[in-house]
Amino acid sequence: MTQLEVHPGPGEEQEPVGRSRRPLELSVRLGWYILKNRIKGRKRFPLVTMLEPLEMCNLACIGCGRIREYKSVLDKMMPVDEALSAVRESGAPIVSIAGGEPTIHPRIDEIINTLVSEKYFVFCCTNGLLLERMLDKIPPSKYFCWVVHMDGMEEKHDESVARKGVFKRAVQGIDLALRRGYRVCTNTTIFRNSDVDDLREMFRMVGNTGVEGSMISPGYDFEDAPDQDLFLTRRESRSIFQKLLDPAHTEGIKFYNNPLYLNFLKGDREYQCTAWSNPTYTVMGWRKPCYPLADEHVRNVQELYDSSLWERYGVGKDPRCANCMMHCGFESATIFQAVTTPKDWATLIKSGAAHKGGITAG
Ligand code: SF4
Ligand code: SF4
Repeated sequence: MTQLEVHPGPGEEQEPVGRSRRPLELSVRLGWYILKNRIKGRKRFPLVTMLEPLEMCNLACIGCGRIREYKSVLDKMMPVDEALSAVRESGAPIVSIAGGEPTIHPRIDEIINTLVSEKYFVFCCTNGLLLERMLDKIPPSKYFCWVVHMDGMEEKHDESVARKGVFKRAVQGIDLALRRGYRVCTNTTIFRNSDVDDLREMFRMVGNTGVEGSMISPGYDFEDAPDQDLFLTRRESRSIFQKLLDPAHTEGIKFYNNPLYLNFLKGDREYQCTAWSNPTYTVMGWRKPCYPLADEHVRNVQELYDSSLWERYGVGKDPRCANCMMHCGFESATIFQAVTTPKDWATLIKSGAAHKGGITAG
């Protein structure tokens, strides 16, 4: 039985929207998958396949490296079969679709609907501008969740995405999707100019509309992003997250990230990155080594699991890793460590994060 609540469609009388919920099956399947791989003796394996079926976008956010890094292939659309093969080749039970703006891809519904029919847990990251038109093409499912980009309340969000009116459209999209029975989360990137009070207001607002939770992560200093002053150093990240996550001011806010990762963001814990757990497939192939860095693109995902690769990348190994605290590298690290540390596992269970899956996908 799905834990999704069904809401009236457009034109029907509007009832207050209930909260969408992450299905228990996700955590059960993820736990079983980790156990199976451990029993097989695999040290490194994927948890989330990051799929970028195109790099084109209908926005040009100031902190976005992708639309600039892939400038020469912005018109390239990944064929459906290629996208599905990449997900199957990786084998991770969770798929996070990003880009670029995935809803621009002319066959994104085929990609998502096929993956859902194969029972992958699919999270589709979107800026929300075209969300409404996708709702008739992709039915709600417990295996599918929209992840809407929200960087603050109206003024801050529209500044971050460099266009007025986007905040309103994103909020409308979230509301409509919830009313049509979809699972919905939000995804927020924290930059140097982020305003902690404004963010808390936004997290409460989207929480009140009924989203499953809010994912947060500091931005990575993509060298192709135009405004390098936006990006936080490790020390600055810790300071801003200590303020943002201060328990005295987070009442009513539901973060989707697990508490161990939130503690890491605040500087209470240290982890080495496990970026190999989030292999990223793009229109040019698998990014090697990781979601933020692409020193090369390769055809075979197995190249990302070579031990010698990870002797070269990670905090303290490559200078470009020094300020990276992104969830694609470190939230999975908290899970891998928790699996072998009863105290950490107890923390996840106590907080409810293990039961809810304990890993974000955006
Ligand atoms: S919406 Fe996403 S992909 Fe598009 S420009 Fe903004 S950050 Fe980049
Ligand atoms: S620490 Fe380095 S290798 Fe790990 S995710 Fe960040 S940039 Fe990639």
